[in-house]
Amino acid sequence: MALIKDEAVAIRRLDYSETSQVLAFFTREHGKQRLIAKGIKRGTKSRFATGIDLLERGSLVFSRKEESDGGLGVLTEWRQEDVFSGLRREFRWMVAGQYMAEAVDLTTEENDAAPRLYDELVRSFVALPNRDAPVLIEFQRALLIEIGLMPDLSRCVGCGRAWSGKSSPFFSAREGGLICHECEAPLVEKRRVDPSILLGLRGDRIGIEVAGEAFDLLDYHLTESLGRTLKTSPYVRQFLLGGASQVRS
Ligand SMILES: [Zn+2]
Repeated sequence: MALIKDEAVAIRRLDYSETSQVLAFFTREHGKQRLIAKGIKRGTKSRFATGIDLLERGSLVFSRKEESDGGLGVLTEWRQEDVFSGLRREFRWMVAGQYMAEAVDLTTEENDAAPRLYDELVRSFVALPNRDAPVLIEFQRALLIEIGLMPDLSRCVGCGRAWSGKSSPFFSAREGGLICHECEAPLVEKRRVDPSILLGLRGDRIGIEVAGEAFDLLDYHLTESLGRTLKTSPYVRQFLLGGASQVRS
């Protein structure tokens, strides 16, 4: 069985027992991998004696899944490289990190390499304690671009007319972008967007003052596109964006 070396972030815990741990990893070169780490709690004889935490980064060696192994690959080595201790200092940054991990998990396929997205995830974990909520929205945007679902925020996707930058247009996830006032009437799935949010999302760096609404817009788009809600969304609203107003003042 060929062994593969890579680096990865643990993005989801699938199962945990006395003798093994099953985790979804987002690897840099081999995309998402569901791996079983056998003997994780076997103490001193085990290389996984302390277990693996969510949102930690490490270098790993694994073999791809075999039919006989319940559709799981096997993790044979894990060397912890970074626990992102900055991220762990505040609960709301952990919540933001968990949202990113969940979004990656829901939007990527196993074995589908996305190294740019991986690098973005790692960069975001490092940047969160310094720049707070805007980092999450910039990650949402980078994710949507990477998976080809970034909505068009520059023109009406109905008639193609460029948005003036002043009026409050509508936004439709299903249509994939802005909808002008002349095109909106027949559409059921739509919501109004404030110009400041759109201008904010166009910039390189997102300002903290639009973070809450910009998150809502991109989270709404992701939810509609995936047909499911991210479990961590309410926690982001409650803890990260609730906390953003304190940062602002
Ligand atoms: Zn239009």
